[in-house]
Amino acid sequence: MMNGIWLSFQRLALEMMEADLMPATLSVINLRKHYGDVTAVDGVSFEVARNEIVGLLGPNGAGKTTTINMILGVLEPSAGTICIEEVDLARHRSRALERTNFAAVYAALPGNLTVAQNLRIFGMLYGVKELSTRIRELIEQFDLVKFRDTKYGLLSSGEQTRVSLAKAMLNEPSLLLLDEPTASLDPATAREIRSQIRAFALQGTSGVLWTSHNMYEVEDVCDRVLFLSHGKILLEGDPKTLPREHGKATLEDLFIQVAREPLTLQD
Ligand code: ATP
Repeated sequence: MMNGIWLSFQRLALEMMEADLMPATLSVINLRKHYGDVTAVDGVSFEVARNEIVGLLGPNGAGKTTTINMILGVLEPSAGTICIEEVDLARHRSRALERTNFAAVYAALPGNLTVAQNLRIFGMLYGVKELSTRIRELIEQFDLVKFRDTKYGLLSSGEQTRVSLAKAMLNEPSLLLLDEPTASLDPATAREIRSQIRAFALQGTSGVLWTSHNMYEVEDVCDRVLFLSHGKILLEGDPKTLPREHGKATLEDLFIQVAREPLTLQD
């Protein structure tokens, strides 16, 4: 009996050590983006570990979407390095992006294709194996069975979000980027989607980078948050303890201070 417990303890310790040694799924070093005179992202560095959900927070115009678009390879950085699964995006673009996926309200899927057709086309683009099975699983997981043959453009915005999330999980990405994924969902669906994304992050070796303006959601779902203001990371930490560390009662209070008086939080 004692031997069994000892062996389980050793296995657990080994797994924890291996997890510590595994490289981050995303590594961003000194990233910058200038649009003419506007500096949208100003020397940002951070990592997303495996099984970790990191919240990228900040007021409107802080640089969140610009950061995400550079990680997606849609925008070229003015400076800095992005590595996905240790592959440098600037040097090996396709290899870095093949295990990445993304969902955002503003990135609509083709509206004249049905839900199933959309998932099939994106699945083929990502080279998903056993695609019909994967599509069936995702349609069930995201409660889309009755919309299978409905054109995406005819769905409500909440239903479209669920299809976009299903699309984002098609290739079981190592890095999942979500730009306000629950913005158009009703509270019950948003809760369900949060738990599905959390399960996704826990089950394999994936990391998730998540932007949201909903501080309740961020506290509920994120393991770590980065507060961005004027293109710089001002604060970083556990969303459950960070407010108290800065003398605030809630994450929302802290967010408002970062948005209004960013300089008071800089060392
Ligand atoms: P939000 O919460 O409102 O979505 P955000 O944090 O995602 O904001 P970004 O969209 O990254 O912010 O914008 C960062 C800054 O860069 C803003 O000041 C914005 O006006 C500016 N910006 C973004 N895109 C361009 C562009 N193509 N040309 C010029 N300026 C831009």
